[in-house]
Amino acid sequence: MANGSEGNGHAVRAEPLPAPLDASKLTITLADTLKPIPAAEDLVFGKHMSDHMMVSTYHPVTGWSAPEIKPYGPFVLDPVSSCFQYSTNLFEGMKAYINPEGKPQLFRPDMNMARMRRSRDRVALPAFDTDELLKLIQKLVAVEQRWIPNAPGHSLYVRPTIIGTRPSLGVAPSDHAILYVVCCPTGPFFRVSRMLSLMAVAEHVRSWPGGTGGYKLAGNYAPTFMPQAEAAKKGYDQVLWCIGDKITEAGAMNFFVSIRRDDGDIDVYTPPNDGLILPGVTRDSIMRLMSAHGTSTTLAGIAEKLHVAEREIHIADIARWAAEGRLLEVFTVGTAVVVASVGRIGVEGKPDLELPKHDGQMGPLARAVHTKLTNIQWGHEQFEGWSVVCE
Ligand SMILES: *Cc1c(COP(=O)(O)O)cnc(C)c1O
Repeated sequence: MANGSEGNGHAVRAEPLPAPLDASKLTITLADTLKPIPAAEDLVFGKHMSDHMMVSTYHPVTGWSAPEIKPYGPFVLDPVSSCFQYSTNLFEGMKAYINPEGKPQLFRPDMNMARMRRSRDRVALPAFDTDELLKLIQKLVAVEQRWIPNAPGHSLYVRPTIIGTRPSLGVAPSDHAILYVVCCPTGPFFRVSRMLSLMAVAEHVRSWPGGTGGYKLAGNYAPTFMPQAEAAKKGYDQVLWCIGDKITEAGAMNFFVSIRRDDGDIDVYTPPNDGLILPGVTRDSIMRLMSAHGTSTTLAGIAEKLHVAEREIHIADIARWAAEGRLLEVFTVGTAVVVASVGRIGVEGKPDLELPKHDGQMGPLARAVHTKLTNIQWGHEQFEGWSVVCE
């Protein structure tokens, strides 16, 4: 052997350092007393965290610690930790559902893991194998199964998070980190189904060319709270984020519009994934389902052929399509809301753009994709291996 290290015939295999994240090293410590689970109708999103969390910490010399599932609780952190000073934080949002066999399952978690890798690389946090993280998430969801409300429209929201914990004010990548996953039960976004109102905002933007709007970084959200509060004060549900007159997305949801074509088919447009929008798992799933409509799947009640395309959408386009009587539906999509129809868009200095009202709740296409998607998420239907069971 070149370095003679196997001279006695026994390969000396030290653990490689820094150690990779390794789900096989998981230890589980269950809470002594379990929390009471709130009644489904009392759930407030994000308020009632489950009994346990998954945690692994990264040290630049030793690497990722053996992952732990342990009772939910606070961290003690140095006041100059990178996450507090330089916002080296990012997260994912996904849901677990109880399938008809009574098992919890995740929806396209590989998409969340891929997005988390991109976010992590963008802020130079320590790398780890997201396949290992997914195994840990599956284990945590299985441990927390009793927290998944068995009621229509309910699920367990799963929040994987990484925070940079480098204890120094030096402006540099964080070479210390905590990777953790917490969960909370969640009910339907709106208790009573209704249409959203959006206020177009271009004075404040959430993304810009070359910026970080395409990554799920914690730092992207703080600057959205003031514009959101102003929109709420003016009576709108959410901000419609625009760059000039170009629509990017709404609140933390992706944006879709459907238009009647001259040949009777329907065009469905959504802004391109050009770094100005967050590439949503729901957005991608809905684009795929609509593209497959009429071939490998059917959207209930939609007789027309759908032509799905990514293209720039301007406020002026919406106004023109509405004036021409061709505008069918505007809707927003995301993990939390799934699909919400939009009934009204406020534009500075102009009367509100009134959109087709349907039944005041949801347009037929929004309703059809909502039904299809939730049927797949709840395991009542299969589509392209999108469901991953947690055991
Ligand atoms: C999370 C998020 C979305 C929706 O993404 P999903 O993967 O569908 O949940 C859209 N926009 C923003 C800004 C987001 O943070």
